[in-house]
Amino acid sequence: MVEEYLFPSSVGEALDCLEKYGGEARIIAGGTDLVLQLKRGGVEARALVDITRIPELRGIREEGDYIVVGAATTHTEVAESPLIQAKAKVLAMACKSIGSLQIRNVGTIGGNLVNAMPAADSAIALTALDAEVEVVSKEGSRWVPISRFHQGVGRCCVDATRELVRAVRFKPLCDNEGSAFKRLARRKALILPILNVGVVVGWEDGHFTRAAIAIGPVAPVPFRAKKAEDVLIGAPVSRESVEKAAWAAFEEARPRSSLLRGSAEYRKEMVQVLVRRALMEAAGI
Ligand SMILES: Cc1cc2nc3c(=O)[nH]c(=O)nc-3n(C[C@H](O)[C@H](O)[C@H](O)COP(=O)(O)OP(=O)(O)OC[C@H]3O[C@@H](n4cnc5c(N)ncnc54)[C@H](O)[C@@H]3O)c2cc1C
Repeated sequence: MVEEYLFPSSVGEALDCLEKYGGEARIIAGGTDLVLQLKRGGVEARALVDITRIPELRGIREEGDYIVVGAATTHTEVAESPLIQAKAKVLAMACKSIGSLQIRNVGTIGGNLVNAMPAADSAIALTALDAEVEVVSKEGSRWVPISRFHQGVGRCCVDATRELVRAVRFKPLCDNEGSAFKRLARRKALILPILNVGVVVGWEDGHFTRAAIAIGPVAPVPFRAKKAEDVLIGAPVSRESVEKAAWAAFEEARPRSSLLRGSAEYRKEMVQVLVRRALMEAAGI
């Protein structure tokens, strides 16, 4: 049972709170995942350490070659950021698609990552952006590539009873790069999507030079369609190249049948459709 609800004012203080409880306290941000898990008994904690009043964990800024997003920044703040809309449209679109306005106003990008669902919308966009996640503990801080962050359904490399995510960073897109996010979900339902796709592409002299295609949930962690990406690199920026890449994504994606999300066959077909639409939009074809 939760005995104490704490509001540290700095990252150092938050880590002190976690240490004091020796593994029995847990970070809480928006609480949109955690409160349900606590109620259902899937997670237990004697104390909750609320990080939403720590100024350094909020906001979006440019730092050197990177755009840095504080872990406690809400989905609404990310979706409405002119910088993210201009330089990482895939992330703005993903955050805009999450849940409802109420969920987006409190749910955070750090919580979405640490909750580690393979269909988590912002995680799919961040995977396409090749983002890095900053993890802080009493021992220091480290940047973890997003490809190594997730470890399975509901599992990631962060122990939220001892450490926390401070920020996420990625390179802003250049003028000859584009991105897009596509999502298939039940209508009028506030749940994770049936399928989501985030893509980033770049081109030079009419040929693709960069391709990242992230798809969820077709594997236990956000999935990169590497074979489809390979099809694009060096290929002309054309509808035909996009069709070939979408077919490759169809072949390599392995969605499972799900009562809530539809049959594997249907979702596999839809991988092709969403990848094609996302690539066309990102490349401006
Ligand atoms: C009705 C409803 C609809 C939803 N729809 C969607 C949807 O469409 N798409 C989608 O992707 N998600 C959806 N979600 C899930 C949820 O809103 C998101 O995953 C959200 O981003 C979680 O963020 P939070 O700040 O609320 O996390 P919390 O619930 O506060 O925390 C989630 C987990 O992360 C840990 N944590 C949080 N922040 C940190 C940090 N900085 N460092 C370390 N650990 C941390 C917590 O300890 C906990 O384990 C929905 C949830 C609900 C209830």
